[in-house]
Amino acid sequence: MKPLWTKLGTVLGIAAGGLDMWLNTLRISPFTLRHGKPDHAALLPSAQAKPINYPRPDGSVTYDRLSSVFLSGTLHEEDQPPHLQVRDLSLQKSSEHDVFGGPSGLYCPAAVYEWVGEGAGLRYQINAANCVHCKTCDIKDPNQNINWVPPEGGGGPNYRGM
Ligand code: SF4
Repeated sequence: MKPLWTKLGTVLGIAAGGLDMWLNTLRISPFTLRHGKPDHAALLPSAQAKPINYPRPDGSVTYDRLSSVFLSGTLHEEDQPPHLQVRDLSLQKSSEHDVFGGPSGLYCPAAVYEWVGEGAGLRYQINAANCVHCKTCDIKDPNQNINWVPPEGGGGPNYRGM
């Protein structure tokens, strides 16, 4: 549906997407459209992008990320093997941070990734215990430098408690 939306615009794209979903349920959809490039290749360097100033959460309709992580009941053993693996930390600094402006700090819904400090003291902090297993980082990292692997059994959001 999303490629149709992208190609045809909101009104026509959603109408065509609805038709496509209906045809899919009847198993007679005649075609499959794909995006022109993978998601991670769609990121622009931060110098070419317009900053978005998101309003602060109001605590009534919108909430900060860590409050929502708390509600998900996410829990991991602190000493389990890392399930978020950054293959090359220097590439993360030179490209993800320096060129793309650290998008992991924005796209991760659980505030797992943070660039902390400045200058020579700058470091990539991974708060893996907060991870809600959406796998966005594995898909969206501009260099495909983050590998999400299944965590130790039992860790993650408490789906039954939601
Ligand atoms: S899987 Fe999702 S929640 Fe976990 S670190 Fe990646 S982006 Fe964040």
